[in-house]
Amino acid sequence: MKTLSKSFAKEGIWMEQAEKPEFGHNDVLIRVRKTAICGTDIHIYNWDDWAQQTIPVPMTVGHEFVGVIEEIGQEVQGFSIGDRVSGEGHITCGYCRNCRAGRRHLCRNTYGVGVDRPGAFAEYLVIPAVNAFKLPNDISDEMAAIFDPFGNAVHTALSYDLVGEDVLITGAGPIGIMAAAVCRHVGARHVVITDVNSYRLDLAKKLGATRTVDVSKENLKDVMDELGMTEGFDVGLEMSGVPSAVQSMFATMNNGGKIAMLGIPPANMGVDWNQVIFKGLQIKGIYGREMFETWYKMVSLLQSGLDISPIITHQFDVDDFQQGFDVMRSGLSGKVILNWK
Ligand code: NAD
Ligand code: ZN
Repeated sequence: MKTLSKSFAKEGIWMEQAEKPEFGHNDVLIRVRKTAICGTDIHIYNWDDWAQQTIPVPMTVGHEFVGVIEEIGQEVQGFSIGDRVSGEGHITCGYCRNCRAGRRHLCRNTYGVGVDRPGAFAEYLVIPAVNAFKLPNDISDEMAAIFDPFGNAVHTALSYDLVGEDVLITGAGPIGIMAAAVCRHVGARHVVITDVNSYRLDLAKKLGATRTVDVSKENLKDVMDELGMTEGFDVGLEMSGVPSAVQSMFATMNNGGKIAMLGIPPANMGVDWNQVIFKGLQIKGIYGREMFETWYKMVSLLQSGLDISPIITHQFDVDDFQQGFDVMRSGLSGKVILNWK
């Protein structure tokens, strides 16, 4: 079968041939239809410090996918051959305290599909059946292919009550933009999103941000004056991982504001802790998606009319994967899909 793999310890991704994977008693074998390129795949492509420390070479990469179950292990229940599925890329242990308490997203022994074990950029993918998510017919393949990052957005955005609240989202990457759409859909008032990339801010506007702010050109505090926000933001969703963005969020939150942090900052990021203490801010870290509460919420949000389809800006045949990676690396894209079939 065809795969896209990190074959060499240097910049790039390569198309390779591999054996169709074996599957165990509790696994499903999925024929992959569509995959999407994640920021993580770009880190792996670029072979940055994180990738060098994390990814064993060679490794089939990718973890955002939709496909159809072609074979099931003999102990698997609840799935049938022919089921259309996406799936959770965090493989959890099942026996740690958090797993046993039903908090699988907090498992201490998590393995990543396409990071620690062979990924979804392949004609066939094997994952444990408990990680597969059966899709209702009214969810398109395109949407299902981006459930992983959409789930990051939903998990982060729905951390707090948003109805009537003024929300600041720092970072209009694909996840920040989808989070803006979710906030609007569930009834936030102002949904202000910041970035330094005008292409992405335009896309955020299209998906429902009420005000976009290019922080290289405009001052966030001036925008708050313009909007009549005298006190500060009620909810902050940090989706850039950029220290200056985190600092601006802490500085513009109202007293008692609530922050959810998804963006991955550099080690030892400095922040003004006095903002946290004297404003009584609440901060929650977000990793992945809740299994599988976030997945059910994603389906319900789409079925109740949330339209995030404009976030998919490009689709390529997998043979043209290089174009997909190039456009994703340029920053002039939302989500980029690779078609396998
Ligand atoms: P991305 O890199 O596409 O988006 C980050 C955005 O931040 C970019 O558009 C960038 O232009 C913008 N940015 C740069 N400087 C800025 C500034 N000063 N102010 C505001 N924005 C600025 O990433 P993504 O795929 O949308 O993911 C968002 C973040 O979440 C990334 O840091 C990613 O590593 C992280 N992430 C975390 C998890 C998790 O489980 N915690 C999962 C997926 C992604
Ligand atoms: Zn566990």
